[in-house]
Amino acid sequence: CGIVGYIGMEEAAPFLLHGLQRLEYRGYDSAGVAVYNETGLHVVKSKGRLSVLEGILEGGAKLPGSVGIGHTRWATHGAPSDVNSHPQVSDGGKFAVVHNGIIENYLELKNHLLRRGVEFVSDTDTEVVAQMLEYYYHDDVLAAIQKVIDRVEGSYALGIICADCPEKIFAVRKDSPLIVGVGRGENFIASDIPAILSKTRDIYRLKDQEIAVLTRNSIEFWNSDRERIEKQSEHIEWDI
Ligand code: GLU
Repeated sequence: CGIVGYIGMEEAAPFLLHGLQRLEYRGYDSAGVAVYNETGLHVVKSKGRLSVLEGILEGGAKLPGSVGIGHTRWATHGAPSDVNSHPQVSDGGKFAVVHNGIIENYLELKNHLLRRGVEFVSDTDTEVVAQMLEYYYHDDVLAAIQKVIDRVEGSYALGIICADCPEKIFAVRKDSPLIVGVGRGENFIASDIPAILSKTRDIYRLKDQEIAVLTRNSIEFWNSDRERIEKQSEHIEWDI
């Protein structure tokens, strides 16, 4: 299972597919991407090998746009299927979320939202995160993320894009790996270093419940108490 995210000047989809390939060693049963462009938020996902997704996307050419997140899923809640693949999208279509890990209390959270009229389409624990984000969102994505991580129990690495803030990628983790890569005019998120080595060797490691907000030219970090924090980047010396 793996997560990759790109925000920059180039096409996101070909890079997302490349990054997911470099994470194939982690194992997966489905794959998907969400890309934002001037016509909105687009999600393409499929059960099966990455080659299936690559075929649908024609290597990425089918999905133009320079902001996106990608995912390979190792199903824990809900069988491997197209609808259970990630990204998971909120009812109103504002949020696309990729997730590695397990939301332990998802049923309780799901029932709470169902009683309030939110409609679910998948059997995943992850969809709860997408739905909660939209439910708690009132013009401030960061505040919605803080509310969600206050309420979810379990493990997560999350990549999030919001149609209202298309110039940003949000990332947060707890007990599942996630790094942020630093480029020039482009920035990245990934489950592991190999996914972004073709682009950069400068990374930040996120600690539990630290939130990263990426634009093309900036990366800001916040802690779970809603305080802005400074972090030190690391230079990776590996060869590809
Ligand atoms: N628990 C989530 C699911 O089953 C994420 C699995 C993963 O880590 O890929 O959809």
